[in-house]
Order: sequence, then C-alpha cells, then structure tokens
Amino acid sequence: MSKAIVIGAGIAGLASALRLRHQGYEVDVFEKNTYTGGKIHAIQLGDYRFDLGPSLFTLPELVDELFKLFDEDPRNHFNYIQKETICNYFWEDGTSFSASANRDRFVKEASQFFEESEESIRNYLKRSQRKYELTSPVFLEKSLHKSKSFFNLETINALSSVHKLDLNQSLDQVNHKSFSNEKLIQFFNRFATYNGSSPFKTPGIMSMIPHLEMQLGTYLPKKGMHDISQSLTRLAQKVGIRFHLNAPVDELMTENKTVKAIKAKGKIYNADTVVCNMDVYTAYNTILKNAPKPEKTLKQERSSSALIFYWGINKEFKPLDLHNILFSENYNKEFEHIFDKKYFYEDPTVYINITSKHIKNDAPRGSENWFTMVNAPTHEGQDWKAQTTYIREKIINKINRNLKTNIENHIEVEKVLTPKDIEKETASFQGSLYGTSSNNKFSAFLRHPNFSKSYSNLFFCGGSVHPGGGIPLCLMSAKIIAKHIRQS
Ligand code: FAD
Repeated sequence: MSKAIVIGAGIAGLASALRLRHQGYEVDVFEKNTYTGGKIHAIQLGDYRFDLGPSLFTLPELVDELFKLFDEDPRNHFNYIQKETICNYFWEDGTSFSASANRDRFVKEASQFFEESEESIRNYLKRSQRKYELTSPVFLEKSLHKSKSFFNLETINALSSVHKLDLNQSLDQVNHKSFSNEKLIQFFNRFATYNGSSPFKTPGIMSMIPHLEMQLGTYLPKKGMHDISQSLTRLAQKVGIRFHLNAPVDELMTENKTVKAIKAKGKIYNADTVVCNMDVYTAYNTILKNAPKPEKTLKQERSSSALIFYWGINKEFKPLDLHNILFSENYNKEFEHIFDKKYFYEDPTVYINITSKHIKNDAPRGSENWFTMVNAPTHEGQDWKAQTTYIREKIINKINRNLKTNIENHIEVEKVLTPKDIEKETASFQGSLYGTSSNNKFSAFLRHPNFSKSYSNLFFCGGSVHPGGGIPLCLMSAKIIAKHIRQS
C-alpha cells in the first residue's frame, strides 16, 4: 500500500488524510500540538466551555461528505442546527437589527430598518448569488494553477462575465453604488472580514460572501465548533489513520525532486506522498528552507488577526443571540488601523459569540460564555500586553454603552488570546486567521498552489494556500489535492 504523510492536523489536514485513506493510502498524520484540529480547538474555564477559534459554520455538507466517503451516516457522528437568526447588529445610536435567515423576511425587515427599497436589497442578493455561482466552480473548487482548469465551459463562462464580478472596484465602492444608507453599507462591508480583508481594499467580487451566509445558511454544531475537528478525528481513527501528536516535523528529506521521507522527533518516516497542512510561509522557513522560495507569493499581505477575550458572564443578555456585532462608528478608520497603522482603533467593532444560547452545558444556568473578539493587526512585534489593556477598556465601554450594562461586574472567568498567541499555537505566520489577505484583485492568483513546483509528490492544503482561509475553503483545498494526487 502506498504511504502518505500529512503534516499538521488542522481541518484541511484531517480532511486530506481522510480523502487519501479513502483513495487507498496508508496515512500517518504528524501534529506538533498535543491535540488535533489546529485553529478549531476548545478550552474549559471553570464551568464554561469555549470554542477557541472559528464560530461561524457554513457549507456543513463539506464535512458530511467526509463521513459519506466511508459509507457512514454523518448524523450518527456529527450533528448541527441551522440558525433562523443569522446575527444581531448594534449601533452606537441605540438601534439594532436582527438578520433573519429567511430571505423574504430579511428583505422586508432590512428594507424597513435601513430605509432602502426591497428591490435594491433583493437585487444585491441576486448579484451576490450570481457572483458566487460563476466563480465558485472556477476559483474555489479547482486548482487555479493548472492550465487544464482554464479550458472548460465553466471557466469560459466566468471569464466572459468578468465585468459582472466587480474586480476593479472595492467592496465598499460596490456597496455605495448599491445603497445609500450608511448602516446597510457597513452591514454588507463587514463580509470582507470573513477572509480577513478590508472592505475598503478587497475587490467587489467579495460581495458574493453574503450569498454563503444569507442564502445557503449558517449552522452550529450541536456540541460546538470543536466537534467539527473532533468528530473527524474520531472518523480518521476508526478508518485506520495513525496520529502522531506532540510530533513536530522538523525536516523533509528530499532526493531527485521528490520527498522521500520526513523527520520528526529524530526519527525518519518514509512516504510516497506528503501533504503539508502547515501555514505555507512557516513551512518555507522551516521544513522547506532549502527549497526554492516562491518569493512573490510569500510577500503577499497577511490576513488580519484577532484578539479574543473568553469571558464567563454570570448573567443572561436577552438582546444577544449566537452571533452579535457591535459596530464601530468609523469603519474606515478601524481598517486603516488594522492594515496600515498596525494597532487598535479606539472604537473597534466588537463581535460576541455565545454558544450557550443553544448549548446549555457550555455555561452554568443563568450565565453565558462570551467569546468577545475584535479584528486585530497581524503580529509584528507589538506590545500585546499594553494593546490588550488598552482594547479591553474600549471593548468594555462599548458593551456598556450598547447593552446598557456594567459588564465588568459580570465577568467571572477570563482568558485572552492575542495574535502572538495564535502564531505560537498554530504556527500561522504573524497570527493571521486566513493566510494571506484578499486586499487586491490578484490575491486569488497569488495564493500558493496546492502542489509544489519543486517536489513532484508534495502537496499543500489549508487556509494559507489556494483557495484560501475559513473552514469551507480549507475543506475544498483537501478535495483539490486529493484529485491532483489521484491524477498524478
Ligand atoms: P490550522 O488550523 O492552521 O492547523 C495547522 C496545523 O499544523 C496546526 O495544528 C499546527 O499545530 C500544525 N503544525 C504547524 N507546524 C507543524 C509542524 N512542523 N509539524 C507538525 N504539525 C505542525 N473560519 C471560519 O470558517 N469561520 C469562522 O468563524 C472563523 N473564525 C476564526 C476565528 C479565529 C480566532 C481563528 C484563529 C480562525 C478563524 N477562522 C474561521 C479560520 C479557520 O479557523 C481557519 O481557516 C482554519 O481552521 C485553518 O485550518 P487549516 O487546515 O489551514 O490549519
């Protein structure tokens, strides 16, 4: 049986391992941490459980597919609910808007709240869908770096409609052309953060993201986001994939343009195929330091990072749901600080995720588990202790103003995660959440391919390579490499 080695047990590493096992490989996964899942991890603070990283779950069928590969009914292993309310939004003037997952209801309520015509909102969502459907088969589901990806009907369709993709305008410009209400523009601008970019820089094609959330739906695993990585780990173990935890790979042993083996903890393991799920930037600076470097790719701007307070709150807040946004009064300045000044803006947008709204065991009765996050600049040597003290006070004041409370009195337990911690924990260069940013129209083409140009049997998956970051795209990267390997 051919041997495959996967380096890193992030979501894309787990999915790649499963897909290769399904293709008949003997698979070993090496993970530097003592746990699998990478950014999809959880912590327990006293009686409160928190998902450590991602909180928004879309396209759950991509996880289900992995169970189905092995003729397992996903529902016997992994369950989720579909959300009826997508997110609650709050502004400093005391207004708030609850975005319904029901399209007709959303259009009606948004039209009333934002004072825009139902027609303009409906048309925006239709264009969002069109952009998603045109680009997804070309930009997301295939390699962008193989010439044969370009000679088929879907690509020709997408390229002939390129003028409809709004590549030459920023998302903010597209939104300003579509609407006049600044709050609605801010609402649709926020989707740039779903891949760690700025709405003032990312191209208008990103207006396809609302289609994912608002029309394909948002979900919550019944045991929390952590169950995505944990249920897949259990499946992997069941189908005979071997995990080597606390086993960082230190070196790739190469010969004649192939990787012959990897070295971990001083031992050598042979492989026919190697899949790297590490952040590609870190990989080139460590295990691939002797390989030719794709300089242009590695110079791409990183996506934003995050600073998170995990707070056990001994009170329940009725106006809050699973996902909540407290908007900054000056979005432009906030993104200028994140991407250019590289420190926090005084009025940040605050995201609060509360899984205990649905998962009762995540917090004691009458209490809530608050994952309180602000978008942050990448880690470039800032003094995170000082930045944390500064932003904690700003966040608390904002919550107090918006929710008319004194939140500090309700914080029972606390843990902080900074961009530097994210880098340390997951080896994600500069603590970026989604690999490189999509702050220019060529980003998709400049992302690292899913294969190595130097070694014929080395492949790359995960958020730092094509097609990009976020759980669905990481799962798609695993699908792309499994296809490459099958065809190679
Ligand atoms: P990672 O999770 O980055 O894992 C890589 C693995 O490689 C790690 O386990 C690491 O320890 C291991 N590794 C590194 N070096 C070595 C080595 N030398 N040897 C062995 N192993 C090694 N996405 C969403 O879809 N929705 C969200 O709401 C969302 N929010 C987010 C919020 C936060 C705070 C964060 C951090 C991320 C968020 N994301 C979100 C992004 C999403 O989590 C990631 O895109 C995705 O989980 C990345 O998966 P990955 O497979 O690329 O690998």
